[in-house]
Amino acid sequence: MKTTAAVATAAETPLTLTEVDIDELRPDELRVRMVASGVCHTDAIVRDQWYPTPLPAVLGHEGAGVVEEVGAGVVDFAPGDRVLLSYSTCGHCRACMEGAPAYCKDFFSLNFGGRRTDGSSAFTRDDEQVSSHFFGQSSFAALANVPVRCAVKVGADAPLETLAPLGCGIQTGAGAVLNVLRPEPGATVVVFGAGAVGLSAVMAAKVARAGTIIAVDMHEDRLRLSE
Ligand SMILES: [Zn+2]
Ligand SMILES: [Zn+2]
Repeated sequence: MKTTAAVATAAETPLTLTEVDIDELRPDELRVRMVASGVCHTDAIVRDQWYPTPLPAVLGHEGAGVVEEVGAGVVDFAPGDRVLLSYSTCGHCRACMEGAPAYCKDFFSLNFGGRRTDGSSAFTRDDEQVSSHFFGQSSFAALANVPVRCAVKVGADAPLETLAPLGCGIQTGAGAVLNVLRPEPGATVVVFGAGAVGLSAVMAAKVARAGTIIAVDMHEDRLRLSE
């Protein structure tokens, strides 16, 4: 089956919008038609090979879309479900079992390896393998085969284009405040950098009832937004 993807072909080079082949759905996967995807700094630095994800690659890891097809072993999702996507985890290591999946022992290979655990890639172009499963999803494609563990079902009227960045930036900023910093009510919180992650930290500090919240940035428009 063909689909359209934005393919990273080389460092410091714009993505190429092109047709790729997408392979058979595995039993534990969903075929997701992307509706929206955030763009994160990690997409840029992986394209530039700060991390060794093999190129060419379909990057993108803040995807949201609609399930088109479910693998033979999937029971909790059905075609038509709207889903948000996030990073991949093994589900059975100590960190995963203790509710800290971001520290999964296989986090690096599952999210940056560009391949499934069996070594296959979902995408090919002119018979060349194209890395897939970036953060489990490779959301810079119209269609992606995504492990069911990476998907969260949302309501039929959920605004996917607004919710997509929950998969990385928003949960990173909010999680740092709510799960790790855990400010006391009334505490003063300073956030350095008011991009998507920093502004999510600002919102989380508000939710946590911090007293004074200070955003530090060099961009006036971001500072205004943080108010
Ligand atoms: Zn990210
Ligand atoms: Zn794990």
